[in-house]
Amino acid sequence: MSSKDGTDVGGVGAANSSAPNLCCFDAPVLPDWVLFNVPHDSTFIPPLERSRFLLNDAELNVELLRMTDHWTFDLFAEGIPERRVLRSPVSRLVVDVERFEEDSLEIMASRGMGAVYERTSDGQQLRPPLPAAQRQELMNTWHLPHHYRLTEAVQRALDDHGHALLIDAHSFPSRPLPCDWDQQPDRPDICIGTDDFHTPPQLADALAGAFGTAGWTVKLNSPFAGALVPMRNYRQEHNLAAVMIEVNRALYVDETTGDRLPCFASVAKAIRNVILSGVRVLNLRDEGGFHD
Ligand SMILES: [Zn+2]
Repeated sequence: MSSKDGTDVGGVGAANSSAPNLCCFDAPVLPDWVLFNVPHDSTFIPPLERSRFLLNDAELNVELLRMTDHWTFDLFAEGIPERRVLRSPVSRLVVDVERFEEDSLEIMASRGMGAVYERTSDGQQLRPPLPAAQRQELMNTWHLPHHYRLTEAVQRALDDHGHALLIDAHSFPSRPLPCDWDQQPDRPDICIGTDDFHTPPQLADALAGAFGTAGWTVKLNSPFAGALVPMRNYRQEHNLAAVMIEVNRALYVDETTGDRLPCFASVAKAIRNVILSGVRVLNLRDEGGFHD
């Protein structure tokens, strides 16, 4: 794996999937070999884990509001078959499936925010220090199954089609959080994260160009860098393309509430059309695989 980067729920959250489906646009159809990783849109916190947090309900709601990539499932992957969407069922405050399994590999672990957070986004204590067995239990329950499903879905697409594109789907707050490494205030509308091996330059160029045409500012690998790839395939599988797309939350949600803005459907449609532009570039390269 390689990658970096609240809804008001009264303490124990509900996955966004339980909310009414408000997405009602005609999304372009993407090929079966396009997969989505959606690690951060859930607000669900199992009661036992909630009871272990050191935050009161108001503090927890603030943290969920800051840390959740609100509605990113709906934004990127609503209507796409379940087998092609790898969505964490729990909040990243329970387990962050985007972070490396081993803290020794995870840069955010130095801020108490490895795969299992002990600190909040502003450095407060989220949980008491975790016994190793308790951490492992959380990893076994949420982190390992997510990566198993991710690896299997990628392999299935490679077996069936000979190639695959994995899109790592995120959003980010319009102002840096205290935990963010990049504290520059001038954040773009769209951040595209790339990997030297797995992101064909033509794909990054096509996505950046299409987002620009849609009227949005774009940066590559800023304020977040990289693109998630299953460990099995990492820098091994030439026919697995990967890219991260991070959307500035100010484009589509009220950041003080996590509620969708009226323009949500049009933003989602624009994102899908941009992704289709990228897919078309890869299609042109199909015969020889994604790499020259
Ligand atoms: Zn995210």
